[in-house]
Amino acid sequence: MTTSFQSLGLSEARIERLQTLGFEKPTDVQAQAIPMLLQGRDVVGQSQTGTGKTAAFSLPILEQIDAEVPAVQALILTPTRELAQQIAQAVIEFCDDRSMRVLTVCGGQSMERQTRSLQRGVQIVVGTPGRVLDLLDRQKLQLESVSWVVLDEADEMLSMGFIEDVKKILTSAPAERKTACFSATMPRAIQALVKQFMRSPTNIQVAQPKSAPTEIEQRVYKVPRGWSKLNALQPILEFEDPEAALIFVRTKRSAAEVTQKLQAAGHSVDEYHGDLKQSQRERLVQRFRKHQVRMVVATDIAARGLDVENLSHVINYDLPDNPESYIHRIGRTGRAGKTGTAISLSQYADRRMIREIERRSRQTLDVRPIPDRAQVEAQRLEKLQAQVQEALAGERMASFLPIVRELGIEYDPQAIAAAALQMFYDQTRPNWVETDAPKPERPKPKPRTNRKPNQSVTPK
Ligand code: ADP
Ligand code: MG
Repeated sequence: MTTSFQSLGLSEARIERLQTLGFEKPTDVQAQAIPMLLQGRDVVGQSQTGTGKTAAFSLPILEQIDAEVPAVQALILTPTRELAQQIAQAVIEFCDDRSMRVLTVCGGQSMERQTRSLQRGVQIVVGTPGRVLDLLDRQKLQLESVSWVVLDEADEMLSMGFIEDVKKILTSAPAERKTACFSATMPRAIQALVKQFMRSPTNIQVAQPKSAPTEIEQRVYKVPRGWSKLNALQPILEFEDPEAALIFVRTKRSAAEVTQKLQAAGHSVDEYHGDLKQSQRERLVQRFRKHQVRMVVATDIAARGLDVENLSHVINYDLPDNPESYIHRIGRTGRAGKTGTAISLSQYADRRMIREIERRSRQTLDVRPIPDRAQVEAQRLEKLQAQVQEALAGERMASFLPIVRELGIEYDPQAIAAAALQMFYDQTRPNWVETDAPKPERPKPKPRTNRKPNQSVTPK
């Protein structure tokens, strides 16, 4: 069943706005929650990260808020400052109306500034429970005009010890408000809270994906200080040798830069961006699907329009701003029960985000150094061997036997095979330029003696 945003009861203007953001059809949780919230029902939604909850609650609220009234009409509570900022940013993106004011209210920010904004008139407050309660106690924040309270990631708020604060805030909000509660899990304490503070809520359960659980291998490559990510990417790509990869970058500018650099190095790569004509887009998608182009570089926004499944790799050239986007991004690999690989480049400044991702996904990531030349070569030789074994199992090789026989009069069969391998190896060698290869910060302890074939690469 495919639902459209139109059928959910959203306004035309909003739908247009969503289209410019690349939201073409609603996610499951959006399709279920939006009509309910538009009808004024309370909603309890259980759904995982990355299912589009932000739009599920903000769109119906935005439809109903009066931007002319300079009073807080919606209060969104969320466990962390990062989430609050992310939600506020999304809400601003969802509405065209400049007179709509959204304020984030979190600890660690100037309370004075928040108070001043509140005095000037704010329609939507997004905040963490502690600071919201603080402002309530100081009577800087008034809730009498609040018609919606949203509890986002309620289970996280519980595990972070905010639940009593949340209850106090709910008690201070007008009784005739609407309440929406979203949570990935439904522990008892949340169920109790729902029972106490919500009025015959509709339960929304987003079905888990039907396909077999997919496995995603995640690796983080540490980019040493002094190396550029562009240079670090090359040995990573050669080591990983992706069949179909989506490379995420932060900005359009770096998309162009990365694409250009990789193309110059002979990689099969293209850039996907919003300025492409519809026909160009379709052509690129076709080529990508057929593996005629192996890698596509895109920003998060552009990638929304890229309808390609079964990627072998998702590569985070730039890490996203939040763990949710990371999880969303890497979900594009390993679909339909296949194993996928998610690769991230990490610089020193990214270490907090890596930790945040580990916390949110409840697993430890495999952080490793950039593969060196010897590892890349070893990997390629391994692959070569596998390819030879595959060819030996096939039938087409028989047509080459006469050549081998003829050469065999003069040469040793082992030497013939080795020469053929060398030719193949040379042809598939990536032609990255030696001077572009990243240099380690410190001299290597010992020069390697067991040189692999073709270790010296001459500049083009
Ligand atoms: P959650 O809060 O459930 O973890 P988010 O609301 O943060 O998920 O959404 C995850 C990502 O999906 C965001 O980048 C968001 O912009 C994107 N997204 C949400 N809904 C849609 C949609 N209908 N179409 C395209 N992208 C969407
Ligand atoms: Mg969210």
